Amino acid sequence: MLKKLTRFYHPKTIEEACLNLGNGELKTAIIAGGTSEVLRQDNSIEALVDISNVKELSYISKDSVFYRIGAGTPVQDIYKTPALTGPSGNLLKAAAGKIGSTLLRNSITAGGNLAAMFPWSDLPVVYMALDAEVVCRKGKPKRTVPVQTIIDKKASQFLSAAEIIAEIAIPMYGKGTGTAFAKLAKTANDYSMITIATRLTTRSGKVDQARIAVNAITAGPVRCIEAEKLLEGQKPTAELIAAAAKKAADSITIRKDFRASREYRKEVFEVMVRRALTEAHEKAGK
Ligand SMILES: Cc1cc2nc3c(=O)[nH]c(=O)nc-3n(C[C@H](O)[C@H](O)[C@H](O)COP(=O)(O)OP(=O)(O)OC[C@H]3O[C@@H](n4cnc5c(N)ncnc54)[C@H](O)[C@@H]3O)c2cc1C
Repeated sequence: MLKKLTRFYHPKTIEEACLNLGNGELKTAIIAGGTSEVLRQDNSIEALVDISNVKELSYISKDSVFYRIGAGTPVQDIYKTPALTGPSGNLLKAAAGKIGSTLLRNSITAGGNLAAMFPWSDLPVVYMALDAEVVCRKGKPKRTVPVQTIIDKKASQFLSAAEIIAEIAIPMYGKGTGTAFAKLAKTANDYSMITIATRLTTRSGKVDQARIAVNAITAGPVRCIEAEKLLEGQKPTAELIAAAAKKAADSITIRKDFRASREYRKEVFEVMVRRALTEAHEKAGK
């Protein structure tokens, strides 16, 4: 466990952090909340760049289109802030509040939860359901990419040398959109067995955009595209929502572990998707 670690950097700015990361001498990694980095069985790492004191990475703000969340923002801040409201804010807060314990939530960061993606990671599905964008910085230069790009390629493969995730930009949805988050775990602190984030954006009583993003029941975060397509362009009746939930359950590759069998997860998952879509639909109508 980090047996070769000989250097610790404590940058104060993003540019300094990127400079430290690309030092060119030592095999170097970022440490944010540290909740998975310290457990990594990677004994080749020689230096760590601690970004927890980079103030320009820790904020929750908004402009006319997006909520903007600094990658170093602890998920407890997302859970507690009154600044996040509406369909996007409510979904972010619902998921953040269900991550581990208060102690863990004060460490785990919005960017770290995306960079180190596990089956039990809760925020990636929320970012997917909301069509978030991710701002990456390599010193001053920055690029903005859809979150799906990072999820498909994995941050470790996607980011170039000395590049970091700096911000997650979440579109703000208004009237006509409803969201819902659902999670099944044995205890509040145990890893999730099923994680679901849904969004229905409606226009004139029909579904304009449907998002069903899931994790934990799968090996990584995925969208149930076929189920989403079933809903789009249609009136979201109870029958259609039930059919979409079944389609979602039939379309994913279900993981099993000692906590629960595939059969159990599939049965519960279908019910949870149906309820989450129903909740999103009800909220969209308010
Ligand atoms: C007991 C326990 C229970 C947990 N339960 C849950 C849960 O229920 N739900 C949930 O979602 N998570 C949970 N987690 C957290 C999850 O497993 C990860 O540990 C966490 O998301 C990592 O975030 P971090 O900020 O601590 O990142 P770190 O551990 O500091 O870093 C993780 C990785 O991401 C990289 N990284 C971090 N930030 C950046 C950045 N800005 N740019 C580029 N790379 C970066 C690091 O280099 C490292 O490789 C739990 C963790 C523990 C230990």
